[in-house]
Amino acid sequence: MTVLSDLLVVQTTDIAISQAKHRLSHLQESIDRDAAKNALAEIDAQIAGFDAEILAANEEISKIDRLSHEHDDKLIKLNKQLKTVIAPREAEALQREIAMVTTERSALDDRELELMAVVEDAERKRSALVPVQASAKSVLASAIMALSSAKQRIDAEIALLVEQRSAQALVVSQAVLATYEAKRKHRPDGAVCRLTGPTCGSCHLDISQGEINSMRAMPIDEFPECPHCGSFIVF
Ligand SMILES: [Zn+2]
Repeated sequence: MTVLSDLLVVQTTDIAISQAKHRLSHLQESIDRDAAKNALAEIDAQIAGFDAEILAANEEISKIDRLSHEHDDKLIKLNKQLKTVIAPREAEALQREIAMVTTERSALDDRELELMAVVEDAERKRSALVPVQASAKSVLASAIMALSSAKQRIDAEIALLVEQRSAQALVVSQAVLATYEAKRKHRPDGAVCRLTGPTCGSCHLDISQGEINSMRAMPIDEFPECPHCGSFIVF
């Protein structure tokens, strides 16, 4: 094996490492996990919305209860007063006040009924979401596990490739490896390549027969490069 064919082997492993890393950052399991997370967040938000609605309605019901008691007390007081007054004008005034408080009291009852319906409706909708939330939680847990095992699988694959790459690079000199790394910055998959007929395997341009002949005639310590892209050429 020539130095460059050893380098080609290193490049094959480097490409496999890049592909594995690309797969690691584009995992379907990652997309699935995000979707499951969003689905659960949406259900959590709906439940929180119903909780807030129930809380607000219950707070208003407590306030109404307090006001209703106050109205009842007032009515008792006014009715007592009514029994003691003699002057008809005073009695009329009291009756008007009793009528007003009674109307207010009845409006409070109506509002309380409305709020109880709101609470009942929100509680029903909330209850219906609880099993949906539980299943979204379990979908998310499975998605997290699937993602973790997919990552572990590819991490192990990369670790193996990196180990393989170190072993393969041992036979290539530091200087050649450094040039290869520099070339790889521009052509990650084609820093070193073979010719297909007269065509460079990296840039796919044809090299003249004259140039190919002089590359073939190069001494062993000189490395042929494509005149178009600079890729090392392996014969
Ligand atoms: Zn080329």
